[in-house]
Amino acid sequence: MTQTNAEQPSRGGVDDVLPRLDEVIADVVAPVAREIDRTGSFPRVSIDALAKAGVLGAVSSVDLGGGAGGLPEVTEIVRRLAKACSSTAMVVLMHLSAAMVLEKYGQRGIRAAIAHGEHLTTLAFSETGSRSHFWAPGGTARTSSPDAVRLDARKSWITSAGEADSYVWSTRPLAADGAMTLWSLPADTTGLGDAGAFDGFGLRGNASRPVTADGVVVRHDAMLGDDGAGLDIALSTVLPTFLTGSAAFSVGLAESLLEDTAVHLTGTRLEHLDRSLAQDPLTRAQFADLTMLVGQAQAFLADTLTALTIGRADATVRLLQVKAVTAEAASAVADGAMRLCGGAAFRKEAGIERKFRDALAARVMAPTTAALRDFVGRVTLGQPLFDEE
Ligand SMILES: Cc1cc2nc3c(=O)[nH]c(=O)nc-3n(C[C@H](O)[C@H](O)[C@H](O)COP(=O)(O)OP(=O)(O)OC[C@H]3O[C@@H](n4cnc5c(N)ncnc54)[C@H](O)[C@@H]3O)c2cc1C
Repeated sequence: MTQTNAEQPSRGGVDDVLPRLDEVIADVVAPVAREIDRTGSFPRVSIDALAKAGVLGAVSSVDLGGGAGGLPEVTEIVRRLAKACSSTAMVVLMHLSAAMVLEKYGQRGIRAAIAHGEHLTTLAFSETGSRSHFWAPGGTARTSSPDAVRLDARKSWITSAGEADSYVWSTRPLAADGAMTLWSLPADTTGLGDAGAFDGFGLRGNASRPVTADGVVVRHDAMLGDDGAGLDIALSTVLPTFLTGSAAFSVGLAESLLEDTAVHLTGTRLEHLDRSLAQDPLTRAQFADLTMLVGQAQAFLADTLTALTIGRADATVRLLQVKAVTAEAASAVADGAMRLCGGAAFRKEAGIERKFRDALAARVMAPTTAALRDFVGRVTLGQPLFDEE
């Protein structure tokens, strides 16, 4: 799990990371993507190569050796990865979302390990009981000795489960009021157990398995931020990264599907009519519809990043909209690509059906499209994001 490579990532900030990302994508990530999907295996070789290229440390402080990247860099990394291997893109997005929290509230040792590409982390929010309602964890934290805490939970999905070195783990508060407390939990802590396998429809390389915590004991200082402050941290630190990153995931996939569709339509001929599929007017118009959907998704993500960067008045609404807008666009583009490329797209070798399956994940990942529609309606109609308990 922990990287022990002699070769260290660059210390030159995130500007060094992006050019090297393209090399790793071309040399390692893209060539194994189909096999990762076929076998449902974790993309370890890709994650190791990305770690060496500085991608895992992209949001870590420069003084620890990281890239000090923000949302524009995270979204660009995830978009480029999603075009090549969506499973790898989601593993990296979960890592960077959790790393944002650790960078702000974690201890120096774990922050340095992440900065050096020696530590993979992830988010452990969703639970068997509260399902996609991550804001209502049922998992508990109880004082077990003066400086130790006992955690119990049934997490329903954790990307990189059993592969990551640590989890950013949510529970109900220890003693304070509030909905949630966050913890930094080493993945090898006694009492943590895989509670099932992951044989998914899409994102098959994610290792998104259920995990149980049965009497897991951590030191009190594993708490991230204050007791009871977990939901505020999730909303202010995790969600901006995860929502824009998930949008970039959907945009990258949609761009890739559009490119694959164009290649198929221009390179495939109706011999008896002596013309390509792309020369059919109806096909051209349907393809144009897909280009507009992709353009809208790209523009929406770019506008959201601008709104967040300059602190525009509608930044919060844009943020709550962007994952839903892009996830639904990617799903529609994937459906359109499957239709336009016909029976050929049903064959695995075309790669389109893999991207179709992967594209459907974003809308059911929390906050789901349904939850985001409710949040947007609440915020724009002057209501609180959550009902009072
Ligand atoms: C590939 C993948 C990777 C994942 N990785 C992680 C991870 O790393 N960490 C993590 O914490 N979680 C992860 N998840 C879990 C994810 O965030 C969701 O919690 C999970 O997909 C929800 O599935 P469910 O069956 O529990 O959905 P449910 O909560 O049962 O929802 C089913 C449907 O009902 C809708 N719905 C639910 N409540 C309402 C409501 N109040 N109003 C209207 N509609 C509603 C939902 O939108 C959804 O469409 C992952 C999921 C997937 C698919």
